[in-house]
Amino acid sequence: MASMMFTDCSSAATSRLIPLHRRTGAVFLRHCVGQLRLRTTSSERSCSTLSVRSSSSPTPVVSADANSEAAASAMVIDGKAVAKKIREEIAVEVSRMKDSIGLVPGLAVILVGDRKDSATYVRNKKKACGSVGINSFEVHLPEDSSEGEVLKFVSSFNDDPSVHGILVQLPLPSHMNEENVLSAISCEKDVDGFGSQNIGELAMRGREPLFVPCTPKGCIELLRRYNIEIKGKRAVVIGRSNIVGMPAALLLLGEDATVSIVHSRTKNPEDITRQADIIISAVGQPNMVRGNWIKPGAVIIDVGINPVEDPKAPRGYRLVGDICYEEARSVASAITPVPGGVGPMTIAMLLSNTLLSAKRIHNFR
Ligand code: NDP
Repeated sequence: MASMMFTDCSSAATSRLIPLHRRTGAVFLRHCVGQLRLRTTSSERSCSTLSVRSSSSPTPVVSADANSEAAASAMVIDGKAVAKKIREEIAVEVSRMKDSIGLVPGLAVILVGDRKDSATYVRNKKKACGSVGINSFEVHLPEDSSEGEVLKFVSSFNDDPSVHGILVQLPLPSHMNEENVLSAISCEKDVDGFGSQNIGELAMRGREPLFVPCTPKGCIELLRRYNIEIKGKRAVVIGRSNIVGMPAALLLLGEDATVSIVHSRTKNPEDITRQADIIISAVGQPNMVRGNWIKPGAVIIDVGINPVEDPKAPRGYRLVGDICYEEARSVASAITPVPGGVGPMTIAMLLSNTLLSAKRIHNFR
């Protein structure tokens, strides 16, 4: 297995980085903003030709109905186009806010250390904020800063009325306790929605979290914008991480889907997945979900971002999802590509959460 580190990732990365794990010998691509490892797998080798039929704009043509006939070639759910539209909508709202109350939303990002990948993600977020008129604030601390210094900045952003969202770029240096730092962020400004209060509210019936985590929120938004009905459908979420799989399952449940979660200990995952009208996959295994795991007509949201070796690609690698795209597109009715599906939605949702926060704090409708 080839293995190399690289520092580039979708500009849609959120702020979280989770350390690389190894399970049963497999190297997992961690969260999009994390370190990535290039790899080849047997499934990758037999699932390597990407051919994307692109739809230029979201069109309400999809029924996530397991009983409907399989499309010859699934419609591509164009996350890039949807994210662009959302950014335009956010820009309009930001400017309306500025004109009405003389204020714009503000997002603060705290970066510690000199990791190039983290610096890239912070730069991308700043750029995205700038493109919609959101103010961005950045604190860049040296690697050997103390946890106390980071907490001091979190606290000052918590108290700063011009800041409506706070992100701490992960990973933090190993001498710091991430949990301590993240839990210091005020839940009113926790635009990532990972705090226990926000996740707890998401899990409870009839309760509304202040913020929903950006990537799962982006998945549901894609389904909505393509008029894909969720209510009453059978949904399978593959992966149960705190940042994607679990909140995605809770969101689907909140939309009245009947939800199953597949994880690394699930027996016969293909049998469960085959029952789904809607599949959201967030695993980090290239091309794990094969065509015969998919019920004809299912709708597929592929969150996975996996770099695989490709000597023909300019950088020697390319990104693929968890779903074997070329097989899935002849079975499913709609599918997100990788890249260009969920990825661009994540940062759009971060901007959306920051706007939401500013509107709430200033009681602006
Ligand atoms: P995690 O590693 O935190 O979670 C992976 C999940 O997949 C775990 O719940 C794990 O199960 C499950 N899993 C692992 N192997 C299998 C298997 N063979 N069969 C079934 N389930 C399995 O990853 P993340 O949730 O952080 O990310 C998942 C993917 O999504 C990654 O590729 C990541 O890069 C991508 N991502 C993309 C984003 C975007 O913006 N598009 C944003 C965030 C992530 P268990 O709990 O039992 O270990």
